[in-house]
Amino acid sequence: MNKLAQLDQKYIWHPFTQMRDWLRREPIVIASGQGAVLRDVHGKEYLDANASIWTNLHGHQHPKLNTAIQRQLKKISHSSALGFANEPASLLAKKLITAANSIPIGETSSTSPHAKFGTRGTRPSEKLAKVFFSDDGSTALEVALKLAYQFTRRTRGAKSKPKFLSLTGAYHGDTIGAVSLGHIDLFHKAYGGMLFPTDQVMSPYCYRCSFNRAKPERTDARKYRQCHWECVGLVEKKFAAQKMKGNPYAAFVFEPLMQGAAGMIPQPSGWLGQVTEIARSHGALLIADEVMTGFGRTGLTCHVDDKTIASISKNTAAKLFATQRVGVTPDFLCVAKGLTGGYLPMAATLTTQKVFDAFLGEYEEFKTFFHGHSFTGNQLGSAAALASLDILQTEKSVQQRAQLQKNFHAELQSLWSLPNIGDIRQVGLVAGIELVKDWRTRAPFTLREQAGIRVCEAMAKRGVLTRPVGNVIVLMPPYCTTRAQLQKMIAALAEGVAALRHA
Ligand SMILES: *Cc1c(COP(=O)(O)O)cnc(C)c1O
Repeated sequence: MNKLAQLDQKYIWHPFTQMRDWLRREPIVIASGQGAVLRDVHGKEYLDANASIWTNLHGHQHPKLNTAIQRQLKKISHSSALGFANEPASLLAKKLITAANSIPIGETSSTSPHAKFGTRGTRPSEKLAKVFFSDDGSTALEVALKLAYQFTRRTRGAKSKPKFLSLTGAYHGDTIGAVSLGHIDLFHKAYGGMLFPTDQVMSPYCYRCSFNRAKPERTDARKYRQCHWECVGLVEKKFAAQKMKGNPYAAFVFEPLMQGAAGMIPQPSGWLGQVTEIARSHGALLIADEVMTGFGRTGLTCHVDDKTIASISKNTAAKLFATQRVGVTPDFLCVAKGLTGGYLPMAATLTTQKVFDAFLGEYEEFKTFFHGHSFTGNQLGSAAALASLDILQTEKSVQQRAQLQKNFHAELQSLWSLPNIGDIRQVGLVAGIELVKDWRTRAPFTLREQAGIRVCEAMAKRGVLTRPVGNVIVLMPPYCTTRAQLQKMIAALAEGVAALRHA
């Protein structure tokens, strides 16, 4: 066995991994990467089909990112944000706020174009104005959670008990506050006694929704669903019931457009606008977890064709966030994974002037936000993030992403011919492919059958690396992925799925 693989097995404990399984075989040891390709210590090449667990945007060894980090390295790598400002963090904060507030032409910030429940005197949303830096997705959510908690107690009174609402299957990170917001029993149950209670409400999982009366078809379940938006009705009910208790929800926490770790659950067009409208009308703060969806991952529009691509011009807003795609401005916008292009661990929680102002006071009033991490505002991370945003906002990059979205859609269609594929759900540049025993019945594989794991192992043998979420195979190509590379990813997936039948 390779020397490094031996050291790994001797000393390292891997995340979300049954280590008994891990120790059974030689792990792939990654030595280098270039674009969408990863290379192991034996020189074998793989496609990075889940963008290194949803972090990478522009590919590995991007010259602009490498240069930006090297330039910063020659000045300083890290100084503390406790007491000092620094150049790249200041520039990055401004750039993030500007990007997050750019609302596409013709859309307003507070109403959804699809709002079925209409505008009901909802307060207009505030602009995002301030950035609190931290280290990863979990901490970005912890910061939002603590800020929302204190903000609510300061506005509703110190005796109030702020309550949070999130979605079925929600995943917002692995620290205790973030886990409290989560609703994946498999991950979260074990910590029950340590968590604070939060409520959950149905997320729109059209493919397996009990309200969807449609028989399975060979297309994305969102397209043929037959329902009366019962899921939105449940959100309305939940907010109304909590109001009756005399303690309206303090905040509604959600992943916009697509829930990742829940199993790549996409929201049907119109859902997000309606539920955020309801939340706002009940006075709840909106906490958008864009840790996965941020920085262009959810694409430009629902559907991209040649006309869309041709119409992209210098004036096309890059729409880097999923919330912007539906014209929703949250009170807290949490970003991490792709912030630095996936190069360095860094996160940010963006919030409004109003929230910020609630923490102002005389020193001895102790209104200070007592929270912070050692690497807050790290210079190397900030430099990488600045370079990544520069790339993302160029016309060329917007066009490249639109083209990739279109090609991705076209290539995915071939998979419908496989009887073990029940649903293919693409949102922009991410797709979840749900494996089933038979598409006509939607019968799921049991956890014990490890269908997702087996397909991903078969894909790895064919030079394509990704990780499943249960029975859902995730494809999340880096933005530099070529059409040939996409084809290779999808061919490997198809072969892996076909092999399930012969096992
Ligand atoms: C990954 C993820 C997190 C947690 O981020 P970490 O950097 O792993 O702590 C939170 N929310 C969402 C939506 C994520 O995908």
